[in-house]
Amino acid sequence: MSGFSQRYIGLIFLILFTAVLWAIVGAVYALMFFSAMMLWSVIHHIRHIVKLEQWLQYSDHTSASIPEGAGAWDDVFAYLARYVRTHSQSRQQLSLALERMQRATSAMPDGIVILDEMNRIEWCNPIAEQHLGIKQDLDSGQLIIHLVRQIPFVEYLAARKFSKPLILRQAHYHQLILMLQLVPYGYKQKLLISRDITRFERLETMRRDFIANVSHELRTPLTVIGGFLETMSDENNAEPEMNKRALVLMSEQAIRMQNLVEDLLTLSRLENDQNIIKEKEIDISGLLHDLKNEAESLSNGRHQIKLKIDTKNRLIGSQNELHSAFSNLVSNAIRYTPAGGEISINWKIKDRRGLFFVQDSGIGIEPEHIPRLTERFYRVDSSRSRETGGTGLGLAIVKHIATRHQARFKITSKIGEGSQFTIQFPTKRIISDDKQPD
Ligand code: ADP
Repeated sequence: MSGFSQRYIGLIFLILFTAVLWAIVGAVYALMFFSAMMLWSVIHHIRHIVKLEQWLQYSDHTSASIPEGAGAWDDVFAYLARYVRTHSQSRQQLSLALERMQRATSAMPDGIVILDEMNRIEWCNPIAEQHLGIKQDLDSGQLIIHLVRQIPFVEYLAARKFSKPLILRQAHYHQLILMLQLVPYGYKQKLLISRDITRFERLETMRRDFIANVSHELRTPLTVIGGFLETMSDENNAEPEMNKRALVLMSEQAIRMQNLVEDLLTLSRLENDQNIIKEKEIDISGLLHDLKNEAESLSNGRHQIKLKIDTKNRLIGSQNELHSAFSNLVSNAIRYTPAGGEISINWKIKDRRGLFFVQDSGIGIEPEHIPRLTERFYRVDSSRSRETGGTGLGLAIVKHIATRHQARFKITSKIGEGSQFTIQFPTKRIISDDKQPD
């Protein structure tokens, strides 16, 4: 039987009992009894209402703190306890789901900002804080355009054409490049997604510059060769002396193109991750003697070339790559040192590291150029580089080879006094003299 019908039966029973009393002891006593029962009932309900009011006002609203009740109030409080229990369970589940969602969005590599109908910030993840310089605690409720003030962004927001992303240069801090995309969702809300594309953009610029540089490098010799061929194929051309000179110049340009293609192939091999370095124990002393002979034939007696080998320690590395790096440095020293100058090729151990360095007494390099010398096609003096057969790729190749050997490449120079190019090999690559078999 339900509590509701129980309470009706109780009331009917009270009325019947009062009627019987009325018949036996008279109306006065019967009504007194009925009034007393009614008064007791009113006091009972008021007591429970006060308990409920106190619980609603002061308690922590957990099911455990719900007061005990009697009669009808026992059922009311039991219902209330059940309701509070299920409510707090679903609240817990909801806050867990919210926490999970916030943790997931915080771990995302992209920045996310939730904007309301008026483009005010509702929430953002930590990456968005870094990208856009906003603070979730301080800036929520602020208009996004008060914090991201760049004109292209303000225009993008106003144009409301969100199908295409916006590339925002010089975002929060100077060199950051961001890709921003707005995605409308829910009730007029928007998700602002930001992605850091600085690295990608830099690679893209490098790729574009590289293609432009290679085309430029190839165009000049091709123009020269094309011009001579045109002159030579002219029917009226009957000057054997001039033709001979043209052939010499054409073959010079052909060699220049060949050198460029060879350097490009070397660079591409070095940049290819699949191309694993073929290492062996290298007799540096033998390698440097060969280098000195090559340098002397290149210098053709114009320079004084010295070899200073302070150690018999060997090196673990790729013979071909190291030969290529060392000979690039030696040939640069010859090309950028005027006749009569001095060039030394050195191998020594310092602080247990292997040092290979080439020192020259040449033209030197101004300090502002030094950090950029290992960039592809970077030259201090382009005409001098080309005149001496340079491709502008030599030091980029050296830098790559040094990196593949976990070595550091250092350049020091004084204008008019000369330069020193050093490759410093790590201790783990050095085989000490006393460890060698006899
Ligand atoms: P390049 O083929 O032009 O010599 P590199 O990459 O080998 O290209 O060198 C880059 C630039 O560094 C050169 O154009 C030159 O300006 C400068 N450079 C390289 N070696 C020396 C050196 N020993 N003395 C002075 N300048 C040098």
